[in-house]
Amino acid sequence: MISGLCSICGKATKHPHSCVFCGAIVCEEHYDVSSGMCSNCKNRLKHI
Ligand SMILES: [Zn+2]
Ligand SMILES: [Zn+2]
Repeated sequence: MISGLCSICGKATKHPHSCVFCGAIVCEEHYDVSSGMCSNCKNRLKHI
């Protein structure tokens, strides 16, 4: 189910994306197209 609310910033988005890693719904701003991950997961993986 896609709510259209970004789970990071909480803003409503017309083009919600779901993170392939954690499944969170995020807006374009918080989604990385090349990795398919939200910015939370992307930042986490940077440290590994
Ligand atoms: Zn957002
Ligand atoms: Zn994620």
